[in-house]
Amino acid sequence: MVNLTINGMPIQVEDGTSILDAAKKVNIKIPTLCYNPDLPPWAACGICIVRMEGSPKMVRACTTPVAEGMKVVTHDPEIIQVRRTVVELILSNHPNDCLHCPRNGNCELQQLAAEFGIREVPFKNIVKDLPIDDSNPSIVLNPEKCVRCGRCVKVCQEMQNVWAIEFLGRGINGRIASAADVPLGESPCIKCGQCAAHCPVGAIYERDDTRKVWAALQNKDIYPVVQIAPAVRVALGEEFGLEPGTIVTKKIYAALRRLGFKTVFDTNFAADLTIIEEGTELVKRLTEGKGEIPLITSCCPAWVDYLEKYYPDMIPHFSTAKSPQQMMGAMIKAYWAQKAGVDPAKVFSVSIMPCTAKKWETNRNDDMKSSGYQDVDVSITTRELARMIKQAGIDILNLPDEDADSPLGPYTGAGTIFGATGGVMEAAVRTAYYLVTKKEMGDVNFKAARGLQGVKEAEVDMNGTKIRIAIAHQMGNIAVVLEKIKEAKAAGKEVPYHFVEVMACRGGCIAGGGQPYGCTDEVRSKRIAGIYADDEKSTYRCSHQNPFIKQVYDEFLGEPNGHKAHKLLHTHYVARPLYQK
Ligand code: SF4
Repeated sequence: MVNLTINGMPIQVEDGTSILDAAKKVNIKIPTLCYNPDLPPWAACGICIVRMEGSPKMVRACTTPVAEGMKVVTHDPEIIQVRRTVVELILSNHPNDCLHCPRNGNCELQQLAAEFGIREVPFKNIVKDLPIDDSNPSIVLNPEKCVRCGRCVKVCQEMQNVWAIEFLGRGINGRIASAADVPLGESPCIKCGQCAAHCPVGAIYERDDTRKVWAALQNKDIYPVVQIAPAVRVALGEEFGLEPGTIVTKKIYAALRRLGFKTVFDTNFAADLTIIEEGTELVKRLTEGKGEIPLITSCCPAWVDYLEKYYPDMIPHFSTAKSPQQMMGAMIKAYWAQKAGVDPAKVFSVSIMPCTAKKWETNRNDDMKSSGYQDVDVSITTRELARMIKQAGIDILNLPDEDADSPLGPYTGAGTIFGATGGVMEAAVRTAYYLVTKKEMGDVNFKAARGLQGVKEAEVDMNGTKIRIAIAHQMGNIAVVLEKIKEAKAAGKEVPYHFVEVMACRGGCIAGGGQPYGCTDEVRSKRIAGIYADDEKSTYRCSHQNPFIKQVYDEFLGEPNGHKAHKLLHTHYVARPLYQK
């Protein structure tokens, strides 16, 4: 432990703690811009400067560790003036178009300018005329707005191991660009949107598809149907002042109806369906030797994109089951429309997702038109839904609770936990146990699958059959798992796992690229707690117990993994180059 004072207040912290973190412990906020708690600090912006008592020299609080006897001053008139000058210099290279910027109202630079009381910038405004890159189906890149904080580059390269974004040029000519300066849509980008979630300003943001949804809601000839993903229900409330993890599912259903959707379904139902299809696939691979072991989950489209580009040799391990979004899209137009007497050609199917990659997934290949129509017409993020609710003036928190529509609405706790890392695995284990043993699991809480550890490994005993599993989240963590599998196969040894879950985003979809800004591990933990609270209060906690799942197989699908299920609910994968036209 190290003893020091911060603004005269004595404090003891662990050796190696940064001054920035030590100050938080005595409730002092040192302003930052390039710093983000998900990323290693790298002192790019210079806003977090502090000084030692009696010394004129200023150091950066994010990268300077505490030392015994240090006397830190975090705020004095000179420090505040230097910070203000740094902000003014950044503003002198920034377009002054806040009013029509996608981050207007939640921009960290705007916030700093407001806090420092900047009324005019004493430097000439020089903004490079750089074009917006909207070649990517999920993410838009506006290099003019870049403040060179480097967060997106660090997320893409160090957290996600994708390397689709980089710094090009030097000094005044420095800019952010996609790798090799190709259009972002042709780069190795996997559309996870973590760059957008970590960007402090409006330089990288999700493609806004809300106007397409408004147009459909206005069109009297169209029948608008909507689904909401598991992770949306524990995060949307943050946009309306609630604590992360607050469950607002029934308010969202009510708000969607007030927006004009005629039928409201829940992606959690389709998550239950995914478990039946994927669980059956797992059991067949284990017991009948049909297909490669381990089976690897495929419900995260950014992970699908990554695997097809970076590990195409592992494609035979991938589950052919579609993601819950796409299963729901297929079921809405191929099954529900017929049952409800609605012309599927007139159904406009919208998904509300925590995820930017889901926008791309809606058109991933022709399997996404398995109903004979575009299965999901538009996918929008949690942030986009929040904007629509605000535009419509809906006081969501005071709406009465409402339920989703049947039969594609009611869900089990297993469907909800898809939203958190380990959730797909836990849900699959609950049902696979039943499929293998013909008995229900006693305690369905499979805690080894939970938590924010990057790679989790465990073993499940299914009546003497031992199933070894691995769970990886945050794309940069998957290489360890895949390399272990490849090494074992190359050496002719038994593979280390039977079943592997992968999610591209740290913490899983609860921290997806389309969720409300400001996600940290603390926020992730609260959202995950909300997910498991929803699971625990569910009447049914295993996908195979959902009575409506039984109904759709009896009425329409037939057998799990059967002919009809394969046509509608499964897909295929192809090797793709890293850079593509
Ligand atoms: Fe999307 Fe979830 Fe995958 Fe993130 S983890 S890319 S939110 S599906």
